Amino acid sequence: MTEKLFYQDSHLFEFRAEVLRCEQDGAHWRVVLDRTAFFPEGGGQSADTGTLTVCGGTKATVRVTDARERDGEIFHICDAPLRPGDCAEGRLDRQQRLCRMQNHSGEHILSGCAHRLYGCENVGFHLGEGDVTIDFDRELDAEELQQIETRANEAVRADLPVKVWFPEPEELAELEYRSKKELSGAVRIVEIPDVDRCACCAPHVSRTGEIGVIKILNAEKHRGGVRLSVACGMWALEDYRRKQQSAAEVSVLLSAKRDEIGTAVQRLMQERDRLKEKNAALAAELVGYRAEREPETEGNLCLFEEIPDEIAVRELVNRLMEKCGGLAAVFFPGAEGSLRYIIGSRSMDLRKASKAINAGIGGRGGGRPEMIQGSATADREEILRFLREFRATEG
Ligand SMILES: [Zn+2]
Repeated sequence: MTEKLFYQDSHLFEFRAEVLRCEQDGAHWRVVLDRTAFFPEGGGQSADTGTLTVCGGTKATVRVTDARERDGEIFHICDAPLRPGDCAEGRLDRQQRLCRMQNHSGEHILSGCAHRLYGCENVGFHLGEGDVTIDFDRELDAEELQQIETRANEAVRADLPVKVWFPEPEELAELEYRSKKELSGAVRIVEIPDVDRCACCAPHVSRTGEIGVIKILNAEKHRGGVRLSVACGMWALEDYRRKQQSAAEVSVLLSAKRDEIGTAVQRLMQERDRLKEKNAALAAELVGYRAEREPETEGNLCLFEEIPDEIAVRELVNRLMEKCGGLAAVFFPGAEGSLRYIIGSRSMDLRKASKAINAGIGGRGGGRPEMIQGSATADREEILRFLREFRATEG
């Protein structure tokens, strides 16, 4: 059995131990020490990473990329070997562990508050890198979520001690606590007085004040309940910084105060809608002039127009159809530099002719007998040459 220093002191980030075994496993080495502060994956919390350095001599350092527990023994997955019998100095990636503890303890508090206030059961938990996902078995509205968040942050402000212990079976039988599954072996209890009591094997903060802040970032319906995205402590600060940065950028662009950017964006969108309407009206007017300019012909008409509005292009094709005996084609700019077309005719069956037309203009598309639309890749001269001469019998 490896002595688990992380259970004696969750804030131990450096320690000394003896190397007991070292086995190669593919590109890695599995190192067993007599004692360790590296927490192996468990309770929804990922394994610690860090380094092991040989005491004295070469002071060679290996990187610990993962840690796993099997039958009470903890294997440190390392990128280089260590010699059994050597003394090694372990150093955890401190910030990572502190952030995970802030967020894991924050999750317990939030789950405890949701349970006590609204009888919610925590049915899912994922501690990622940067945020935490929590699933509750019932829906919660915005006001309820705010109540839970406020209560949770009051527990942080109260700087409550976090009590962790392995109760004897008799004590455990009497104890009420949250637990996701039937537990076997020694059950470890993490208690925050008057807030939460939960079975958990992961390291936690010593006092709730260490968490700093608990913030619900998002809530969405999930399997008859709700899925929360949460950030605590330093992760919440990082989230705040990102959001502040993006609010600041929008604020400068819109010349609006940061907490009034929502209203400013609304105004901008109203203005955009007004311009769209105006643009459509102008395009319709333009279409009228454009159609008038074309002479009547028994053959085909083919125009290239910078009309961004598809409805207006369709209207132009309708007007041109009245002026020609063959087909009326309008080419106009589409998304990302593409060339789009709408072709109409009163005399040809365009659905039948579409295959030949597309072949001639490097196009794709189709539609009804009187009108087809799509995109073309041939160049302007090629298209003009082809469509001026095109006759329905070819289709
Ligand atoms: Zn836990």
